[in-house]
Amino acid sequence: MNCQVCGASSTNFVSNFRPYLDYDTDVFDCVACRARFAPHDVNAHEKLHSQSSKYLYQADIEKQIVSLLSNGDVVNAKSLLGKKPVNSFIIDRVIALPRAHKLLEIGCSRGYLAAWFLANGRNVLGVDISPTAVAAALKSFGDHFCLPDDPRIRRGAPYDVIYHVGTIGCVVSPVEMTKELIGLLKPGGMLVFNAPNRMSCDFLGGTWLSTPPPDLVNLFHPEFWQKEFSSLAEVEVNVLTAGRLTSGYIRMLAYFGASPVTRLFDVNNYKPPSFWTKIKRYFLTFYFALIDPPVPHEYGIHVVLRKKS
Ligand SMILES: [Zn+2]
Repeated sequence: MNCQVCGASSTNFVSNFRPYLDYDTDVFDCVACRARFAPHDVNAHEKLHSQSSKYLYQADIEKQIVSLLSNGDVVNAKSLLGKKPVNSFIIDRVIALPRAHKLLEIGCSRGYLAAWFLANGRNVLGVDISPTAVAAALKSFGDHFCLPDDPRIRRGAPYDVIYHVGTIGCVVSPVEMTKELIGLLKPGGMLVFNAPNRMSCDFLGGTWLSTPPPDLVNLFHPEFWQKEFSSLAEVEVNVLTAGRLTSGYIRMLAYFGASPVTRLFDVNNYKPPSFWTKIKRYFLTFYFALIDPPVPHEYGIHVVLRKKS
C-alpha cells in the first residue's frame, strides 16, 4: 500500500488495530516520511457528526460556546476553547494580527472556534466536509460557514491566515491539501495548525494515539514539515510535551493496550465499563501522572508555515 501522506511505495504493515468494539482497521508505517497511517474513509466524518457517535462532545462544546457568546462572554469562551492547547496556540497567533486580516478555517466542525473570532470582530470563513456540522454552525453562528465546494472559498482568496485544528491527521492527502492552502495565502501569509505526533505512541510502544481511526488516520514525524515544505514557506515547528495528568492518561491507555471498551457508533446503547474498571483507570492515570515523566503531547506538533514571496 502506498503512503497516504507522501505517496511513497516503501510502507510496512504494522498490525490490525481494533480501537472500538464495532470497528477495526489495518495500520501501516512509511519508511520515506516516517508517518504512521490507516486507510482513510471519506464518509467517516459525516457519519460521526450525523449519528449517535463519540462526536457528540462536539455538539456539547458548540452549545456551551453559543451560551457564552450570546452573553458576550468572550473571556470564558476562550478559557473553554483553551482546554485544548492547540486552540490557545491558534488564538494567540491570530489575535495579535490586524483586525482586518482575512481568515479561513479548514475543518471548522460546528463552528465554535471561528465563532470566537467572529465575536472578536474578525473576518473568518469556516469550511467543513460534513453537511451536518456546517448546518449546525450556520444555525448557531450565522452565515460564515460552507462546504468545501463553495465558490466563496476561492473568491475570498488570497487570505492572510488559514488555520486548522485537529484536521491534518484526518484527511486523505495532507501534502496536497497543505500545498493547496499555501496557494490560497498572500505572500507572507500564515498557515497555522497542529499535527498528531507519532513520537507520542512510539515513546510507549503503542499502536496509535487516544483518538483512533476512522477519525484520525495520519500520524506525523515532527521533522516532516520542515523537510516537505521548506521550499514553499518559512517553517516553524514547536513540539509540545504533555502535562502530567494528560501524560498519566496516555500511559494508562498504553498499559491497557489496544483492547477496546467503547463503541464508535450507537454510543448511547453500549454497556459502559464497570465501576471497578473505571476506578482502576482513574487510579492508574493518577499513579502514572505522579510516578513517571511526561510524554510527548499526542497532538502537539504546532506548525506555522509562512508563505515565501
Ligand atoms: Zn510517507
